[in-house]
Amino acid sequence: MTAGLALDVGRAVGTFLKGGPVALGRDTRTSGPMLHAAVLSGLTSAGCDVRELGVAPSPAIQYYVKTRDVAGGVIVTASHNPREYNGLKVVDDQGMEASREVEERIEALYFDGVYREASWDAAGRVDEVTECNPHYLEAVRRQVDGAAIAKANLHVVLDCANGASCLTSPYLLGRLGCHVATLNAQPDGTFPGHPPEPREEHVVELREMVEDAGADLGVVHDGDADRVVFVDERGTFVPGDRTLALVAGYVVQREGGGTVVTPVSSSSCVEDVVLARGGKVHYTAVGAPLVARTMRAEGAVFGGEENGGLIFPKHQHCRDGALGLATVLEIMATEEGSLSELLAPIPEYHLMKRGVACPDEHKGPVLAALVPRFKGREVETVDGVKVREEGGWVLIRPSGTEAIIRVFAEGKTQAAARRLSKEAVAIVEEVIAETTR
Ligand code: MG
Repeated sequence: MTAGLALDVGRAVGTFLKGGPVALGRDTRTSGPMLHAAVLSGLTSAGCDVRELGVAPSPAIQYYVKTRDVAGGVIVTASHNPREYNGLKVVDDQGMEASREVEERIEALYFDGVYREASWDAAGRVDEVTECNPHYLEAVRRQVDGAAIAKANLHVVLDCANGASCLTSPYLLGRLGCHVATLNAQPDGTFPGHPPEPREEHVVELREMVEDAGADLGVVHDGDADRVVFVDERGTFVPGDRTLALVAGYVVQREGGGTVVTPVSSSSCVEDVVLARGGKVHYTAVGAPLVARTMRAEGAVFGGEENGGLIFPKHQHCRDGALGLATVLEIMATEEGSLSELLAPIPEYHLMKRGVACPDEHKGPVLAALVPRFKGREVETVDGVKVREEGGWVLIRPSGTEAIIRVFAEGKTQAAARRLSKEAVAIVEEVIAETTR
């Protein structure tokens, strides 16, 4: 990711938006100021006025775009990826991540290299905006029962991973009346505390601190704070699918039913909880933008992914780490249980992940040839091939980045997951051998 590339992407986005006003913000990465300046130059050269939002969580920038008069937004962020990465995320005027179709149109402009060029007196104006983070926090606060949360007197250890949430979540917790201890809460794009992906092995300090301090819970965001992951009061890491099920069940109960949208790779524990509370589950292909767009089309009450990405459509159609955090606090406050007690009734499943080597050019034919191999069984092809059976499923998907086909198997017991995985891997290997012969 070079300044030259960022400049041209800025020009392409500005051309696509026909010189309309654009919001621009970034996370805490060290390459952020450089790339931000390049995008700013590209946008203004195409005649776009730019609202400079500075460092802010992706969902705060998306909320600004949704609620203020701009044609779209650009976020300089690489989300949860290591510090040497960076990227540009384009959002539409509703604050939703651009659809694949829009991305392709912007890419076509980039590859054609023909951009809108404003004359000197029509170049975009730049306005520094300071309201992005406070405006967002106020909106998040309006979505939850603040009085109930304050009354619960919760002790929270918050790990901001030195990312964009340093500027928001500590203040949110304070205003919600929580007792807060923070970790890695200084913006620092070298991520000195730990890499900005909220994985169990990255939050050892958080888990220890929750236990030592006798806190009610621990919380960690990823680098751009669109995700939130929890540690319970015993210092145990909570897998994202269990949080997803907890919040899905709570929202469905509160709304008296409704649709929950999640990718086909999500654990069955989500479906179990949602069905038991009178809701429905709609499965999509993997990818948060797709989940968000399907939620809007289906009028869903809630949606999300197993990685800590939770989407609350009454607020906005994108993953929102701060509202995910505030909602879990509301659940703890209103259902009056510790986090481990609230999670205990959610059914447990075992997941096995395997990878089978497959050259990229054979992935398509292999996938097509797989479907008839599962004839007579419950097969879905929303994304890859998913075979469901009583108490378990197996999902076979080509990797987008590596020359492998992934096999995910989930079962009520480890043995069931292993059996499903073994069967599917054998079939995939056979089909690959036949297809590449
Ligand atoms: Mg992220």
